[in-house]
Amino acid sequence: MINVTPISIAAAAQSYAAELTEKLCQPYCVNASIQPVVDVTYTIDDTSLVGTTLYVTLFPCNECAKAIIQSGIREIIYLSDKYAATPGTLASKRMLKSAGITLRRLESDKAVLTLPLSE
Ligand SMILES: [Zn+2]
Repeated sequence: MINVTPISIAAAAQSYAAELTEKLCQPYCVNASIQPVVDVTYTIDDTSLVGTTLYVTLFPCNECAKAIIQSGIREIIYLSDKYAATPGTLASKRMLKSAGITLRRLESDKAVLTLPLSE
């Protein structure tokens, strides 16, 4: 197995090539061990993540971004972006935007979310 760039950002990734060194390539390539997990995850019971929206508390890192792109998720709604200035998050945003995934920070006037875990 080999590491690959997510197919939907392959063209955009070509433009990054000039600034990529071998070490910096890591944020943009899907590790060969992750791809089979992504493939199985979105084909179990014919359930597809293609076109779905992902809700997360923290903006996805570059590793999660690659799996998200490969799964076909089309929108991410996040609560916090506290690591916005880190290289991993910058790479994540670059890939997600190149893949055309909508990124939206959750806006709410509520300070607390209560989630009941029983009926
Ligand atoms: Zn992550």
